[in-house]
Amino acid sequence: MVTLTPDPLPPIPPRPPSALSNVDLLDLPGCGPLASPLESGRGLRQQVFERIRAQGSVARVDVAKDLGVSPASVTTICADLIDMGVIRELPLTRKDGARRDGDGGRGRPPVALGVNPEARYVAGLKLSDLAHAAVILDFAGDVVGRANLPRVHLSLDAEAVAAEAERVLAMALDDAGMDLSALSAVGVGLPGLIRNDTGQVLWSPIIRERLVPFADILERRLGRRTLIDNDANLLTLSELWFGVGRSLSSFVMVTIERGLGMGLVLDNALWRGSHGVGMEFGHIKVQLDGALCRCGQRGCLEAYVADYALAREASTALDWEGRGDRTDQRTLIESLYAEARLGNEAARTIFQRAGRYLALGLATITNLLDPPLIILSGDRMRYDQIYPEAAMVEMRGLTLGAVRTAPRVEVHAWSAWDWARGAAAEALRDTTDALFQSG
Ligand SMILES: [Zn+2]
Repeated sequence: MVTLTPDPLPPIPPRPPSALSNVDLLDLPGCGPLASPLESGRGLRQQVFERIRAQGSVARVDVAKDLGVSPASVTTICADLIDMGVIRELPLTRKDGARRDGDGGRGRPPVALGVNPEARYVAGLKLSDLAHAAVILDFAGDVVGRANLPRVHLSLDAEAVAAEAERVLAMALDDAGMDLSALSAVGVGLPGLIRNDTGQVLWSPIIRERLVPFADILERRLGRRTLIDNDANLLTLSELWFGVGRSLSSFVMVTIERGLGMGLVLDNALWRGSHGVGMEFGHIKVQLDGALCRCGQRGCLEAYVADYALAREASTALDWEGRGDRTDQRTLIESLYAEARLGNEAARTIFQRAGRYLALGLATITNLLDPPLIILSGDRMRYDQIYPEAAMVEMRGLTLGAVRTAPRVEVHAWSAWDWARGAAAEALRDTTDALFQSG
Protein backbone atom coordinates (compact mmCIF):
# COMPACT_ATOMS: atom_id res chain seq x y z
CA MET A 1 0.00 0.00 0.00
CA VAL A 2 1.17 3.47 -0.80
CA THR A 3 0.55 6.39 1.55
CA LEU A 4 0.00 9.78 0.01
CA THR A 5 1.34 12.77 1.94
CA PRO A 6 1.66 16.47 1.04
CA ASP A 7 4.78 17.24 -0.96
CA PRO A 8 7.59 17.39 1.63
CA LEU A 9 10.43 17.49 -0.87
CA PRO A 10 12.56 20.61 -1.12
CA PRO A 11 12.06 22.60 -4.32
CA ILE A 12 14.34 21.78 -7.24
CA PRO A 13 17.08 24.39 -7.42
CA PRO A 14 16.91 26.50 -10.58
CA ARG A 15 19.21 25.38 -13.38
CA PRO A 16 22.01 27.88 -13.84
CA PRO A 17 21.99 29.46 -17.30
CA SER A 18 25.26 27.88 -18.37
CA ALA A 19 24.69 24.53 -16.70
CA LEU A 20 25.41 22.68 -19.95
CA SER A 21 29.08 23.23 -19.45
CA ASN A 22 31.02 24.78 -16.63
CA VAL A 23 33.68 25.60 -19.22
CA ASP A 24 31.44 28.54 -20.11
CA LEU A 25 31.78 29.73 -16.53
CA LEU A 26 35.53 29.65 -16.71
CA ASP A 27 36.49 32.36 -19.09
CA LEU A 28 40.19 31.61 -19.12
CA PRO A 29 42.29 31.59 -22.28
CA GLY A 30 44.49 28.62 -23.11
CA CYS A 31 44.05 25.00 -22.10
CA GLY A 32 45.72 22.36 -20.00
CA PRO A 33 46.68 22.23 -16.31
CA LEU A 34 47.98 25.57 -15.06
CA ALA A 35 50.77 23.77 -13.19
CA SER A 36 52.98 20.90 -14.38
CA PRO A 37 52.85 17.46 -12.77
CA LEU A 38 55.43 17.12 -9.99
CA GLU A 39 57.26 14.18 -11.56
CA SER A 40 56.84 14.89 -15.19
CA GLY A 41 60.13 13.97 -16.82
CA ARG A 42 59.46 16.85 -19.20
CA GLY A 43 62.35 18.71 -20.72
CA LEU A 44 62.49 22.50 -20.58
CA ARG A 45 61.38 22.80 -24.23
CA GLN A 46 58.15 20.94 -23.48
CA GLN A 47 57.60 22.90 -20.28
CA VAL A 48 57.94 26.17 -22.19
CA PHE A 49 55.50 24.95 -24.84
CA GLU A 50 52.95 23.77 -22.24
CA ARG A 51 53.21 27.04 -20.33
CA ILE A 52 52.43 28.95 -23.51
CA ARG A 53 49.49 26.66 -24.31
CA ALA A 54 48.13 26.95 -20.76
CA GLN A 55 48.30 30.77 -20.83
CA GLY A 56 46.77 31.15 -24.29
CA SER A 57 49.09 34.04 -25.06
CA VAL A 58 52.03 35.14 -22.94
CA ALA A 59 55.19 37.23 -23.19
CA ARG A 60 58.56 35.40 -23.22
CA VAL A 61 59.74 37.11 -20.08
CA ASP A 62 56.71 35.85 -18.16
CA VAL A 63 57.34 32.28 -19.29
CA ALA A 64 60.87 32.64 -17.92
CA LYS A 65 59.56 34.00 -14.65
CA ASP A 66 56.91 31.27 -14.29
CA LEU A 67 59.46 28.50 -14.91
CA GLY A 68 62.24 30.12 -12.91
CA VAL A 69 64.74 30.06 -15.77
CA SER A 70 66.68 32.80 -17.55
CA PRO A 71 64.90 34.89 -20.23
CA ALA A 72 67.80 34.12 -22.58
CA SER A 73 67.19 30.36 -22.47
CA VAL A 74 63.46 30.89 -23.04
CA THR A 75 64.23 33.13 -26.03
CA THR A 76 66.43 30.39 -27.55
CA ILE A 77 63.81 27.70 -26.96
CA CYS A 78 61.03 29.89 -28.38
CA ALA A 79 63.04 30.48 -31.56
CA ASP A 80 63.31 26.71 -31.86
CA LEU A 81 59.55 26.21 -31.23
CA ILE A 82 58.73 28.84 -33.86
CA ASP A 83 61.00 27.01 -36.35
CA MET A 84 59.14 23.78 -35.52
CA GLY A 85 55.92 25.60 -36.37
CA VAL A 86 54.26 24.80 -33.02
CA ILE A 87 54.15 28.33 -31.62
CA ARG A 88 53.83 31.73 -33.23
CA GLU A 89 54.19 35.37 -32.32
CA LEU A 90 50.99 37.31 -31.61
CA PRO A 91 50.34 40.98 -31.03
CA LEU A 92 50.60 41.71 -27.32
CA THR A 93 47.12 41.88 -25.84
CA ARG A 94 46.12 44.28 -23.11
CA LYS A 95 46.25 41.48 -20.60
CA ASP A 96 49.81 40.59 -21.60
CA GLY A 97 50.70 44.26 -21.65
CA ALA A 98 49.35 44.74 -18.19
CA ARG A 99 51.66 42.01 -16.99
CA ARG A 100 54.69 43.19 -18.93
CA ASP A 101 55.62 46.06 -21.18
CA GLY A 102 56.78 43.74 -23.92
CA ASP A 103 59.95 41.74 -23.92
CA GLY A 104 61.23 42.46 -27.36
CA GLY A 105 64.06 44.64 -26.15
CA ARG A 106 65.45 47.64 -27.95
CA GLY A 107 63.71 48.46 -31.18
CA ARG A 108 61.53 45.31 -31.44
CA PRO A 109 57.77 45.64 -31.14
CA PRO A 110 56.44 43.86 -28.05
CA VAL A 111 54.92 40.48 -28.87
CA ALA A 112 53.27 37.61 -27.08
CA LEU A 113 53.53 33.93 -27.93
CA GLY A 114 50.69 31.52 -28.62
CA VAL A 115 50.33 27.95 -29.87
CA ASN A 116 50.00 27.61 -33.63
CA PRO A 117 46.57 25.94 -33.71
CA GLU A 118 47.19 24.39 -37.12
CA ALA A 119 50.36 22.59 -36.04
CA ARG A 120 48.53 19.39 -35.08
CA TYR A 121 44.94 18.13 -34.86
CA VAL A 122 43.53 15.40 -32.61
CA ALA A 123 40.14 13.75 -32.08
CA GLY A 124 38.26 12.65 -28.97
CA LEU A 125 35.40 10.15 -28.88
CA LYS A 126 32.95 9.23 -26.15
CA LEU A 127 31.32 5.87 -26.78
CA SER A 128 28.23 4.86 -24.80
CA ASP A 129 25.19 2.66 -25.01
CA LEU A 130 22.90 5.54 -26.02
CA ALA A 131 24.95 7.65 -28.46
CA HIS A 132 28.51 8.30 -29.54
CA ALA A 133 30.04 11.78 -29.64
CA ALA A 134 33.21 13.00 -31.34
CA VAL A 135 35.14 16.28 -31.36
CA ILE A 136 38.15 17.49 -33.35
CA LEU A 137 40.57 19.81 -31.53
CA ASP A 138 43.35 21.95 -32.93
CA PHE A 139 46.73 22.11 -31.18
CA ALA A 140 45.60 25.06 -29.05
CA GLY A 141 42.74 22.90 -27.70
CA ASP A 142 39.90 24.62 -29.54
CA VAL A 143 37.03 22.56 -30.98
CA VAL A 144 37.00 22.74 -34.80
CA GLY A 145 34.48 19.98 -35.54
CA ARG A 146 32.03 17.72 -33.76
CA ALA A 147 29.37 15.08 -34.35
CA ASN A 148 26.83 13.01 -32.48
CA LEU A 149 25.57 9.57 -33.50
CA PRO A 150 22.55 8.11 -31.68
CA ARG A 151 22.77 4.35 -31.57
CA VAL A 152 20.08 2.43 -33.37
CA HIS A 153 21.52 -1.07 -33.66
CA LEU A 154 22.81 -1.95 -30.24
CA SER A 155 25.37 -4.50 -31.34
CA LEU A 156 27.86 -5.34 -28.63
CA ASP A 157 30.40 -6.88 -30.98
CA ALA A 158 33.79 -5.15 -30.59
CA GLU A 159 34.29 -4.81 -34.36
CA ALA A 160 30.78 -3.35 -34.76
CA VAL A 161 31.38 -0.81 -31.96
CA ALA A 162 34.70 0.10 -33.64
CA ALA A 163 32.84 0.60 -36.93
CA GLU A 164 30.41 2.97 -35.18
CA ALA A 165 33.36 4.84 -33.67
CA GLU A 166 34.85 5.18 -37.15
CA ARG A 167 31.54 6.53 -38.43
CA VAL A 168 31.06 9.23 -35.77
CA LEU A 169 34.70 10.25 -36.22
CA ALA A 170 34.19 10.58 -39.99
CA MET A 171 31.15 12.80 -39.31
CA ALA A 172 33.17 15.07 -37.00
CA LEU A 173 36.02 15.27 -39.53
CA ASP A 174 33.47 16.18 -42.16
CA ASP A 175 32.19 18.95 -39.88
CA ALA A 176 35.78 20.24 -39.52
CA GLY A 177 36.38 19.98 -43.28
CA MET A 178 39.35 17.64 -42.94
CA ASP A 179 40.17 13.96 -43.32
CA LEU A 180 41.72 11.27 -41.16
CA SER A 181 45.25 11.95 -42.36
CA ALA A 182 45.12 15.35 -40.59
CA LEU A 183 44.89 13.68 -37.17
CA SER A 184 47.94 12.98 -35.01
CA ALA A 185 46.06 10.87 -32.48
CA VAL A 186 42.59 9.77 -31.44
CA GLY A 187 41.48 9.45 -27.79
CA VAL A 188 38.51 7.21 -27.01
CA GLY A 189 36.55 6.95 -23.76
CA LEU A 190 34.16 4.15 -22.91
CA PRO A 191 32.61 2.80 -19.71
CA GLY A 192 34.06 -0.22 -17.91
CA LEU A 193 37.43 -1.58 -16.87
CA ILE A 194 39.77 -0.11 -19.48
CA ARG A 195 43.56 -0.29 -19.50
CA ASN A 196 44.96 2.93 -20.86
CA ASP A 197 48.50 1.55 -20.84
CA THR A 198 47.87 -1.62 -22.88
CA GLY A 199 44.82 -0.43 -24.83
CA GLN A 200 42.75 -3.35 -23.58
CA VAL A 201 39.08 -3.37 -22.68
CA LEU A 202 38.96 -5.82 -19.77
CA TRP A 203 35.21 -5.40 -19.45
CA SER A 204 32.74 -2.88 -20.79
CA PRO A 205 28.94 -2.83 -20.70
CA ILE A 206 28.94 -1.72 -24.36
CA ILE A 207 31.18 -4.55 -25.64
CA ARG A 208 30.23 -8.23 -25.38
CA GLU A 209 33.75 -9.70 -25.45
CA ARG A 210 36.18 -9.46 -22.56
CA LEU A 211 39.93 -8.77 -22.75
CA VAL A 212 39.59 -7.04 -26.15
CA PRO A 213 42.63 -5.23 -27.63
CA PHE A 214 40.26 -2.42 -28.55
CA ALA A 215 42.89 0.30 -29.12
CA ASP A 216 44.60 -2.01 -31.68
CA ILE A 217 41.28 -2.77 -33.37
CA LEU A 218 40.55 0.96 -33.73
CA GLU A 219 44.10 1.78 -34.78
CA ARG A 220 43.93 -0.80 -37.59
CA ARG A 221 40.65 0.67 -38.83
CA LEU A 222 41.64 4.32 -38.56
CA GLY A 223 45.33 4.11 -39.40
CA ARG A 224 45.94 6.72 -36.66
CA ARG A 225 47.45 6.33 -33.21
CA THR A 226 44.61 5.52 -30.82
CA LEU A 227 44.41 5.70 -27.02
CA ILE A 228 41.55 4.38 -24.94
CA ASP A 229 40.57 4.99 -21.34
CA ASN A 230 37.74 4.70 -18.88
CA ASP A 231 35.27 7.48 -19.63
CA ALA A 232 35.22 8.83 -16.05
CA ASN A 233 39.00 9.27 -16.25
CA LEU A 234 38.61 11.23 -19.47
CA LEU A 235 35.86 13.44 -18.07
CA THR A 236 38.25 14.15 -15.20
CA LEU A 237 40.90 15.11 -17.77
CA SER A 238 38.33 17.44 -19.30
CA GLU A 239 38.07 19.24 -15.95
CA LEU A 240 41.85 19.28 -15.63
CA TRP A 241 42.37 20.70 -19.13
CA PHE A 242 39.32 22.89 -19.67
CA GLY A 243 37.42 23.28 -16.38
CA VAL A 244 37.88 24.42 -12.80
CA GLY A 245 40.39 21.60 -12.31
CA ARG A 246 42.96 23.62 -14.29
CA SER A 247 43.91 25.59 -11.22
CA LEU A 248 43.68 22.73 -8.69
CA SER A 249 46.55 20.35 -7.97
CA SER A 250 44.18 17.68 -6.64
CA PHE A 251 40.47 16.98 -6.95
CA VAL A 252 37.96 14.15 -7.21
CA MET A 253 35.35 13.69 -9.91
CA VAL A 254 32.35 11.44 -9.36
CA THR A 255 30.17 10.61 -12.34
CA ILE A 256 26.67 9.19 -12.38
CA GLU A 257 25.41 7.85 -15.66
CA ARG A 258 24.23 4.27 -15.96
CA GLY A 259 26.74 3.40 -13.30
CA LEU A 260 28.99 5.30 -10.90
CA GLY A 261 32.45 6.40 -11.98
CA MET A 262 35.29 8.27 -10.38
CA GLY A 263 38.43 10.10 -11.45
CA LEU A 264 41.23 11.34 -9.22
CA VAL A 265 43.74 14.07 -9.96
CA LEU A 266 46.79 14.03 -7.66
CA ASP A 267 49.56 16.60 -8.01
CA ASN A 268 48.22 17.85 -11.36
CA ALA A 269 48.07 14.42 -12.98
CA LEU A 270 45.40 11.77 -13.41
CA TRP A 271 45.88 8.82 -11.04
CA ARG A 272 44.80 5.52 -12.61
CA GLY A 273 46.17 2.99 -10.11
CA SER A 274 49.07 0.57 -10.55
CA HIS A 275 47.20 -1.54 -13.14
CA GLY A 276 45.25 1.32 -14.66
CA VAL A 277 41.91 0.16 -13.34
CA GLY A 278 41.58 1.88 -9.97
CA MET A 279 38.95 4.39 -8.86
CA GLU A 280 36.07 1.91 -9.17
CA PHE A 281 33.91 3.99 -6.86
CA GLY A 282 30.72 2.21 -7.94
CA HIS A 283 32.08 -1.11 -6.73
CA ILE A 284 33.28 -0.20 -3.25
CA LYS A 285 31.33 -2.42 -0.87
CA VAL A 286 28.80 -0.70 1.35
CA GLN A 287 27.08 -3.88 2.58
CA LEU A 288 28.43 -7.40 3.07
CA ASP A 289 26.24 -9.88 1.13
CA GLY A 290 24.16 -6.90 0.04
CA ALA A 291 22.28 -6.13 -3.19
CA LEU A 292 23.46 -7.78 -6.39
CA CYS A 293 25.52 -5.51 -8.66
CA ARG A 294 25.76 -5.81 -12.44
CA CYS A 295 29.46 -6.64 -11.96
CA GLY A 296 28.32 -9.93 -10.40
CA GLN A 297 29.40 -9.09 -6.86
CA ARG A 298 27.21 -8.10 -3.92
CA GLY A 299 26.93 -4.97 -1.81
CA CYS A 300 28.51 -2.55 -4.33
CA LEU A 301 27.59 1.13 -3.93
CA GLU A 302 26.33 1.16 -7.53
CA ALA A 303 23.77 -1.51 -6.66
CA TYR A 304 22.08 1.07 -4.37
CA VAL A 305 22.47 4.26 -6.41
CA ALA A 306 22.43 3.51 -10.16
CA ASP A 307 19.35 3.62 -12.40
CA TYR A 308 18.93 -0.13 -12.40
CA ALA A 309 18.99 -0.15 -8.59
CA LEU A 310 16.22 2.47 -8.40
CA ALA A 311 14.22 0.63 -11.07
CA ARG A 312 14.55 -2.63 -9.13
CA GLU A 313 13.32 -0.95 -5.95
CA ALA A 314 10.44 0.63 -7.83
CA SER A 315 9.25 -2.66 -9.24
CA THR A 316 9.25 -4.21 -5.76
CA ALA A 317 8.01 -1.37 -3.56
CA LEU A 318 5.47 0.09 -5.97
CA ASP A 319 4.46 -3.15 -7.62
CA TRP A 320 5.72 -1.87 -10.96
CA GLU A 321 6.67 -5.37 -12.05
CA GLY A 322 6.69 -5.42 -15.83
CA ARG A 323 6.72 -1.65 -16.27
CA GLY A 324 10.45 -1.80 -16.83
CA ASP A 325 9.84 -4.03 -19.86
CA ARG A 326 7.46 -1.64 -21.53
CA THR A 327 9.45 1.47 -21.00
CA ASP A 328 13.13 2.31 -20.79
CA GLN A 329 14.81 2.66 -17.44
CA ARG A 330 15.26 6.41 -17.70
CA THR A 331 11.52 6.97 -18.27
CA LEU A 332 10.78 4.63 -15.40
CA ILE A 333 13.03 6.66 -13.06
CA GLU A 334 11.44 9.89 -14.24
CA SER A 335 7.94 8.65 -13.47
CA LEU A 336 9.20 7.40 -10.12
CA TYR A 337 10.56 10.88 -9.41
CA ALA A 338 7.27 12.45 -10.46
CA GLU A 339 5.48 10.16 -7.98
CA ALA A 340 7.91 11.13 -5.24
CA ARG A 341 7.23 14.81 -5.87
CA LEU A 342 3.52 14.18 -5.72
CA GLY A 343 4.02 12.85 -2.22
CA ASN A 344 4.23 9.12 -2.84
CA GLU A 345 6.05 8.07 0.32
CA ALA A 346 7.41 4.78 -1.06
CA ALA A 347 8.82 6.53 -4.13
CA ARG A 348 10.31 9.24 -1.96
CA THR A 349 12.01 6.70 0.29
CA ILE A 350 13.65 5.06 -2.72
CA PHE A 351 15.41 8.33 -3.66
CA GLN A 352 16.21 9.15 -0.05
CA ARG A 353 17.85 5.76 0.42
CA ALA A 354 19.90 6.16 -2.77
CA GLY A 355 20.95 9.63 -1.61
CA ARG A 356 22.07 8.28 1.78
CA TYR A 357 24.17 5.59 0.09
CA LEU A 358 25.76 8.17 -2.23
CA ALA A 359 26.49 10.30 0.85
CA LEU A 360 28.14 7.26 2.45
CA GLY A 361 30.33 6.84 -0.64
CA LEU A 362 31.30 10.52 -0.71
CA ALA A 363 32.11 10.47 3.01
CA THR A 364 34.41 7.48 2.36
CA ILE A 365 36.21 9.44 -0.38
CA THR A 366 36.59 12.36 2.03
CA ASN A 367 37.85 10.19 4.88
CA LEU A 368 40.41 8.51 2.61
CA LEU A 369 41.62 11.33 0.41
CA ASP A 370 40.67 14.65 2.03
CA PRO A 371 40.25 16.34 -1.38
CA PRO A 372 39.69 20.11 -1.62
CA LEU A 373 36.92 19.60 -4.16
CA ILE A 374 34.54 16.81 -5.18
CA ILE A 375 32.85 17.43 -8.50
CA LEU A 376 29.61 15.54 -9.05
CA SER A 377 29.09 15.18 -12.75
CA GLY A 378 26.44 13.76 -15.00
CA ASP A 379 22.78 14.38 -15.57
CA ARG A 380 21.76 17.27 -13.29
CA MET A 381 18.34 15.79 -12.79
CA ARG A 382 19.91 12.72 -11.20
CA TYR A 383 21.46 14.87 -8.49
CA ASP A 384 18.27 16.77 -7.91
CA GLN A 385 16.70 13.37 -7.33
CA ILE A 386 19.21 11.71 -5.07
CA TYR A 387 21.51 14.39 -3.78
CA PRO A 388 19.45 17.09 -2.07
CA GLU A 389 20.64 19.07 0.93
CA ALA A 390 19.64 16.24 3.29
CA ALA A 391 22.21 13.97 1.65
CA MET A 392 24.87 16.68 2.04
CA VAL A 393 24.13 16.81 5.77
CA GLU A 394 24.33 13.01 5.94
CA MET A 395 27.69 13.10 4.18
CA ARG A 396 29.11 15.63 6.63
CA GLY A 397 27.81 13.51 9.51
CA LEU A 398 29.68 10.46 8.18
CA THR A 399 32.93 12.37 7.71
CA LEU A 400 35.44 11.88 10.50
CA GLY A 401 36.38 14.60 12.88
CA ALA A 402 34.57 17.72 13.97
CA VAL A 403 37.62 19.84 13.15
CA ARG A 404 37.99 18.51 9.61
CA THR A 405 37.29 20.94 6.79
CA ALA A 406 34.68 19.36 4.54
CA PRO A 407 35.52 19.38 0.82
CA ARG A 408 33.66 21.70 -1.48
CA VAL A 409 31.06 19.72 -3.44
CA GLU A 410 29.95 21.07 -6.82
CA VAL A 411 27.51 19.66 -9.34
CA HIS A 412 28.64 20.10 -12.94
CA ALA A 413 26.23 19.02 -15.63
CA TRP A 414 28.50 17.99 -18.47
CA SER A 415 27.36 17.30 -21.99
CA ALA A 416 28.56 14.47 -24.22
CA TRP A 417 30.88 17.03 -25.86
CA ASP A 418 32.71 17.56 -22.58
CA TRP A 419 33.33 13.82 -22.24
CA ALA A 420 34.61 13.72 -25.85
CA ARG A 421 36.81 16.76 -25.23
CA GLY A 422 38.42 14.95 -22.30
CA ALA A 423 39.23 12.07 -24.67
CA ALA A 424 40.75 14.61 -27.07
CA ALA A 425 42.83 16.06 -24.20
CA GLU A 426 44.40 12.63 -23.75
CA ALA A 427 45.24 12.61 -27.48
CA LEU A 428 46.68 16.14 -27.16
CA ARG A 429 48.83 15.07 -24.21
CA ASP A 430 50.10 12.04 -26.12
CA THR A 431 50.82 14.07 -29.27
CA THR A 432 52.69 16.68 -27.23
CA ASP A 433 54.77 14.04 -25.42
CA ALA A 434 55.60 12.35 -28.74
CA LEU A 435 56.64 15.69 -30.25
CA PHE A 436 59.03 16.61 -27.46
CA GLN A 437 60.22 13.28 -26.17
CA SER A 438 61.03 11.59 -29.47
CA GLY A 439 64.62 12.64 -29.60
ZN1 LIG B 1 29.83 -4.05 -8.51
